[in-house]
Amino acid sequence: MRILVVEDEPHLLRSLAKALREEDYAVDTAAAGDEGLFKVESCDYDAVVLDVMLPGMDGWQLLERLRRSKLTPVLMLTARDAIRDRVRGLDTGADDYLVKPFDLSELLARVRALIRRGAGKPCPRIELGEVAIDLRSRTVTRAGQPVSMTAREYAILEYLAYHRGEVVTRTALYEHLMDESDDTLSNLVDVHVFGIRKKLGADLITTRRGQGYCIGP
Ligand code: CA
Repeated sequence: MRILVVEDEPHLLRSLAKALREEDYAVDTAAAGDEGLFKVESCDYDAVVLDVMLPGMDGWQLLERLRRSKLTPVLMLTARDAIRDRVRGLDTGADDYLVKPFDLSELLARVRALIRRGAGKPCPRIELGEVAIDLRSRTVTRAGQPVSMTAREYAILEYLAYHRGEVVTRTALYEHLMDESDDTLSNLVDVHVFGIRKKLGADLITTRRGQGYCIGP
Protein backbone atom coordinates (compact mmCIF):
# COMPACT_ATOMS: atom_id res chain seq x y z
CA MET A 1 0.00 0.00 0.00
CA ARG A 2 1.29 3.42 -0.93
CA ILE A 3 0.67 6.49 1.18
CA LEU A 4 1.30 10.19 0.66
CA VAL A 5 2.10 12.36 3.67
CA VAL A 6 1.68 16.13 3.22
CA GLU A 7 3.18 18.03 6.15
CA ASP A 8 5.35 21.15 6.25
CA GLU A 9 7.04 20.58 9.61
CA PRO A 10 10.22 18.70 8.58
CA HIS A 11 10.62 16.83 11.86
CA LEU A 12 7.03 15.60 11.91
CA LEU A 13 7.13 14.72 8.21
CA ARG A 14 10.24 12.61 8.77
CA SER A 15 8.87 10.81 11.80
CA LEU A 16 5.52 10.08 10.10
CA ALA A 17 7.25 8.71 7.00
CA LYS A 18 9.57 6.61 9.16
CA ALA A 19 6.72 5.17 11.27
CA LEU A 20 4.69 4.32 8.17
CA ARG A 21 7.67 2.71 6.43
CA GLU A 22 8.27 0.60 9.52
CA GLU A 23 4.76 -0.76 8.91
CA ASP A 24 5.95 -1.62 5.38
CA TYR A 25 3.94 1.02 3.58
CA ALA A 26 5.48 2.68 0.57
CA VAL A 27 5.58 6.36 1.55
CA ASP A 28 5.87 9.49 -0.57
CA THR A 29 6.18 12.89 1.05
CA ALA A 30 5.31 16.49 0.22
CA ALA A 31 6.23 19.54 2.28
CA ALA A 32 3.77 21.96 0.65
CA GLY A 33 0.22 21.92 -0.66
CA ASP A 34 0.94 22.38 -4.36
CA GLU A 35 3.56 19.63 -4.28
CA GLY A 36 1.03 17.37 -2.53
CA LEU A 37 -1.64 18.15 -5.11
CA PHE A 38 0.75 17.36 -7.94
CA LYS A 39 1.51 13.99 -6.39
CA VAL A 40 -2.09 12.97 -5.59
CA GLU A 41 -3.12 13.89 -9.10
CA SER A 42 -0.33 11.89 -10.71
CA CYS A 43 -0.48 8.75 -8.53
CA ASP A 44 -3.32 6.63 -7.14
CA TYR A 45 -2.47 6.48 -3.43
CA ASP A 46 -4.14 4.05 -1.07
CA ALA A 47 -4.38 6.78 1.57
CA VAL A 48 -3.27 10.39 2.14
CA VAL A 49 -2.25 11.92 5.48
CA LEU A 50 -2.89 15.63 5.03
CA ASP A 51 -1.95 18.46 7.37
CA VAL A 52 -4.45 21.34 7.36
CA MET A 53 -2.02 24.21 7.93
CA LEU A 54 0.35 24.33 4.97
CA PRO A 55 2.16 27.19 3.27
CA GLY A 56 0.59 28.27 -0.03
CA MET A 57 -2.27 25.94 -0.84
CA ASP A 58 -3.58 24.66 2.50
CA GLY A 59 -4.99 21.25 3.31
CA TRP A 60 -8.61 22.32 2.71
CA GLN A 61 -7.86 23.58 -0.77
CA LEU A 62 -5.86 20.49 -1.60
CA LEU A 63 -8.68 18.23 -0.41
CA GLU A 64 -11.25 20.16 -2.42
CA ARG A 65 -9.16 19.87 -5.58
CA LEU A 66 -8.53 16.17 -4.95
CA ARG A 67 -12.25 15.44 -4.49
CA ARG A 68 -13.03 16.82 -7.94
CA SER A 69 -11.48 13.70 -9.43
CA LYS A 70 -10.58 11.09 -6.80
CA LEU A 71 -11.98 9.25 -3.79
CA THR A 72 -8.55 8.50 -2.25
CA PRO A 73 -9.06 8.06 1.53
CA VAL A 74 -7.81 11.15 3.40
CA LEU A 75 -6.85 11.53 7.07
CA MET A 76 -6.64 15.23 8.02
CA LEU A 77 -4.27 16.47 10.72
CA THR A 78 -5.82 19.46 12.47
CA ALA A 79 -3.89 21.72 14.80
CA ARG A 80 -6.75 22.47 17.17
CA ASP A 81 -9.60 20.45 18.47
CA ALA A 82 -12.02 22.92 16.93
CA ILE A 83 -15.45 21.59 16.00
CA ARG A 84 -15.52 24.02 13.08
CA ASP A 85 -12.35 22.44 11.66
CA ARG A 86 -13.74 18.94 11.99
CA VAL A 87 -17.06 19.84 10.40
CA ARG A 88 -15.30 21.59 7.56
CA GLY A 89 -13.02 18.62 7.00
CA LEU A 90 -15.84 16.11 6.89
CA ASP A 91 -17.96 18.39 4.67
CA THR A 92 -15.08 18.82 2.23
CA GLY A 93 -14.69 15.07 1.91
CA ALA A 94 -12.11 14.07 4.52
CA ASP A 95 -12.61 10.48 5.69
CA ASP A 96 -11.14 10.95 9.14
CA TYR A 97 -9.17 13.48 11.16
CA LEU A 98 -6.68 13.50 13.98
CA VAL A 99 -5.93 16.40 16.30
CA LYS A 100 -2.30 17.39 16.92
CA PRO A 101 -0.46 16.39 18.98
CA PHE A 102 -1.37 12.76 18.43
CA ASP A 103 0.03 9.39 19.29
CA LEU A 104 1.78 7.64 16.42
CA SER A 105 0.09 4.34 17.23
CA GLU A 106 -3.31 6.02 16.87
CA LEU A 107 -2.33 7.49 13.51
CA LEU A 108 -1.19 4.06 12.30
CA ALA A 109 -4.44 2.44 13.47
CA ARG A 110 -6.51 5.10 11.70
CA VAL A 111 -4.51 4.72 8.49
CA ARG A 112 -5.05 0.95 8.58
CA ALA A 113 -8.79 1.42 9.11
CA LEU A 114 -8.96 4.01 6.30
CA ILE A 115 -7.27 1.67 3.84
CA ARG A 116 -9.57 -1.20 4.83
CA ARG A 117 -12.69 0.94 4.46
CA GLY A 118 -11.42 2.42 1.19
CA ALA A 119 -11.09 -1.11 -0.16
CA GLY A 120 -14.54 -2.09 1.18
CA LYS A 121 -12.98 -4.44 3.76
CA PRO A 122 -14.00 -3.11 7.18
CA CYS A 123 -13.15 -6.47 8.78
CA PRO A 124 -9.46 -6.71 9.76
CA ARG A 125 -9.21 -10.30 8.52
CA ILE A 126 -9.27 -11.70 4.99
CA GLU A 127 -9.73 -15.42 4.42
CA LEU A 128 -8.66 -17.09 1.20
CA GLY A 129 -9.45 -20.77 1.59
CA GLU A 130 -7.09 -22.14 4.22
CA VAL A 131 -5.01 -18.97 4.15
CA ALA A 132 -5.97 -16.16 6.55
CA ILE A 133 -4.49 -12.65 6.60
CA ASP A 134 -4.70 -10.56 9.76
CA LEU A 135 -4.52 -6.96 8.51
CA ARG A 136 -3.95 -5.55 12.00
CA SER A 137 -0.98 -7.64 13.00
CA ARG A 138 0.11 -8.12 9.37
CA THR A 139 0.44 -11.85 9.91
CA VAL A 140 -0.54 -14.81 7.78
CA THR A 141 -1.64 -18.30 8.71
CA ARG A 142 -2.16 -21.37 6.56
CA ALA A 143 -4.50 -24.02 7.99
CA GLY A 144 -4.13 -22.25 11.34
CA GLN A 145 -0.32 -22.37 11.33
CA PRO A 146 1.66 -19.11 11.27
CA VAL A 147 3.62 -18.57 8.05
CA SER A 148 6.66 -16.30 8.03
CA MET A 149 6.54 -13.83 5.14
CA THR A 150 9.04 -11.20 3.99
CA ALA A 151 7.79 -7.61 3.99
CA ARG A 152 7.52 -7.63 0.20
CA GLU A 153 5.71 -10.94 0.08
CA TYR A 154 3.22 -9.73 2.65
CA ALA A 155 2.68 -6.44 0.82
CA ILE A 156 2.00 -8.19 -2.50
CA LEU A 157 -0.30 -10.77 -0.88
CA GLU A 158 -2.23 -8.08 0.98
CA TYR A 159 -2.67 -5.95 -2.12
CA LEU A 160 -3.90 -8.90 -4.20
CA ALA A 161 -6.24 -9.98 -1.38
CA TYR A 162 -7.72 -6.47 -1.19
CA HIS A 163 -8.41 -6.78 -4.92
CA ARG A 164 -9.67 -10.34 -4.80
CA GLY A 165 -11.30 -11.41 -8.04
CA GLU A 166 -9.61 -8.64 -10.03
CA VAL A 167 -6.56 -8.98 -12.24
CA VAL A 168 -3.80 -6.78 -10.81
CA THR A 169 -1.14 -5.71 -13.29
CA ARG A 170 2.56 -5.67 -12.45
CA THR A 171 2.47 -1.92 -13.05
CA ALA A 172 -0.23 -1.54 -10.39
CA LEU A 173 1.86 -3.58 -7.95
CA TYR A 174 4.90 -1.37 -8.59
CA GLU A 175 2.82 1.78 -8.17
CA HIS A 176 1.22 0.71 -4.92
CA LEU A 177 4.12 -1.07 -3.26
CA MET A 178 7.09 1.13 -4.11
CA ASP A 179 7.56 4.76 -3.21
CA GLU A 180 9.45 7.57 -4.92
CA SER A 181 12.65 6.81 -3.01
CA ASP A 182 12.61 3.11 -3.87
CA ASP A 183 14.22 1.70 -6.96
CA THR A 184 15.10 -1.73 -5.62
CA LEU A 185 11.99 -3.78 -6.41
CA SER A 186 12.65 -3.44 -10.16
CA ASN A 187 11.29 -6.56 -11.83
CA LEU A 188 11.38 -8.79 -8.81
CA VAL A 189 7.62 -9.10 -8.38
CA ASP A 190 7.75 -12.53 -10.04
CA VAL A 191 10.33 -13.69 -7.52
CA HIS A 192 8.16 -12.58 -4.58
CA VAL A 193 5.08 -14.25 -6.05
CA PHE A 194 7.12 -17.44 -6.41
CA GLY A 195 8.00 -17.15 -2.71
CA ILE A 196 4.34 -16.62 -1.73
CA ARG A 197 3.24 -19.66 -3.72
CA LYS A 198 5.91 -21.79 -2.12
CA LYS A 199 4.67 -20.83 1.35
CA LEU A 200 0.93 -20.64 0.81
CA GLY A 201 0.21 -23.03 -2.05
CA ALA A 202 0.72 -22.93 -5.79
CA ASP A 203 -2.97 -22.29 -6.53
CA LEU A 204 -3.46 -19.22 -4.37
CA ILE A 205 -2.29 -16.69 -6.97
CA THR A 206 -3.11 -17.15 -10.64
CA THR A 207 -0.89 -15.66 -13.33
CA ARG A 208 -2.83 -14.14 -16.22
CA ARG A 209 -0.33 -14.10 -19.01
CA GLY A 210 0.30 -10.63 -20.34
CA GLN A 211 -2.09 -9.12 -17.78
CA GLY A 212 -0.93 -9.71 -14.24
CA TYR A 213 -1.92 -11.65 -11.13
CA CYS A 214 -5.19 -12.59 -9.54
CA ILE A 215 -6.42 -14.12 -6.30
CA GLY A 216 -9.79 -15.86 -6.44
CA PRO A 217 -12.11 -16.49 -9.36
CA1 CA B 1 1.55 22.51 9.25
